[in-house]
Amino acid sequence: MVTFDEFGPEKILEVYDPVTGMHGFTVIDNTNLGPGKGGIRMTPTVSVEEVAHLARAMTWKCALAELPFGGGKSGIVADSKKLSNEQKQAIVAAFSRAITPVCPSHYIAGPDIATAEEEMKTFAEANGDFHSVTGKPATMCKGKACGIPHELGSTGYGVYHATLVALKHLGINVNGATFTVEGFGNVGTFVSQYLTEAGAKLIAVSDSKGGRYVPKGMDYSLLMKVKKEKGTVSEYPAGKKLKPGEIIGVKADVFIPAAQPDVINNRNKHKVKVKLIVQGANIPVSYDIEKEFHQKKILIIPDFLANAGGVISSYIESIGGSEKEVFPTVEQKIVRNTQIVLDYAKKKSIPPRAAALEIAQERVRKAKKRK
Ligand code: NAD
Repeated sequence: MVTFDEFGPEKILEVYDPVTGMHGFTVIDNTNLGPGKGGIRMTPTVSVEEVAHLARAMTWKCALAELPFGGGKSGIVADSKKLSNEQKQAIVAAFSRAITPVCPSHYIAGPDIATAEEEMKTFAEANGDFHSVTGKPATMCKGKACGIPHELGSTGYGVYHATLVALKHLGINVNGATFTVEGFGNVGTFVSQYLTEAGAKLIAVSDSKGGRYVPKGMDYSLLMKVKKEKGTVSEYPAGKKLKPGEIIGVKADVFIPAAQPDVINNRNKHKVKVKLIVQGANIPVSYDIEKEFHQKKILIIPDFLANAGGVISSYIESIGGSEKEVFPTVEQKIVRNTQIVLDYAKKKSIPPRAAALEIAQERVRKAKKRK
């Protein structure tokens, strides 16, 4: 069941097209700060509850990044692995046409699970408004404005800057600090690259096939080569192999979850031996465990603060900005807001997630008053 409160959701659309079999949802959670922003996920199990939950998370993420966006999200019920590309594009086009009455006026789409650049192009063409969606291909332009693909690494860059601010807060020098990364995809590779370039030591990394622990630190270029050639980071030619999940117990200054939800749970939470967790992935730790870690003085930078780089990049695309503007904007917004959250959390002696939520809620309430 979707729950309603003072923030939303404002609109829930359920749409269906008998020709293509498209069945989808759009939840527009809150538009006080601007049109609801959020990606379209395509999975066989997506539900309106899941989409509503994600739309709410976008309300907080956009408010915290000080973007003129509210929160929204879409889901299309389909198994993309069982569809031909032609069928997939037809479904996305049907979905786009069906939600045109609210898009882009109240909702701006973007990529999510199983939807990427090509689907965003299809969506924009079917909607007819270039501004209906972000994450379009760089070759799709209107006047001087072009698409900015999500694969540029803006999220990893934001996670990197959140890590720098948090390390400083803890009095740990990044040069020589040790870190571990769970998941070596878009977010995991870029954050690993930036942190190693800043002098930190990547001592353990994992992907869906396993992991590797190298106490003296890994060579990032070699790690990328191994991942490309052998398909897994666990084949790195030094250190010792880690079984799935073992990375959680590696002692380091920083742990960066960048893959799965609930990676730290009640079964393994006692194994955690780090001082800082910066959440690249969404909901990698439950809030109950975060509160326990807060008591133990393990600092956690929450997902909706640390991983906002992607939506900041979407914002630049939506205002017709260029790729060049993405990285400085991500840095400025993530650094500023991570600092604001850490100062507030310290002042009130509350976990950073609670602080971030209070700040985001206050910004949304203020925007409502201004309206
Ligand atoms: P991705 O698909 O590019 O990479 C995911 C990585 O996780 C892969 O290396 C995969 O092998 C690994 N993985 C899968 N199962 C694993 C397991 N059990 N143990 C260890 N590794 C495992 O995904 P991504 O875009 O890097 O996103 C990672 C996380 O960050 C997701 O939770 C996503 O929702 C979140 N996120 C991503 C973005 C973005 O812009 N990419 C933005 C916000 C949040």
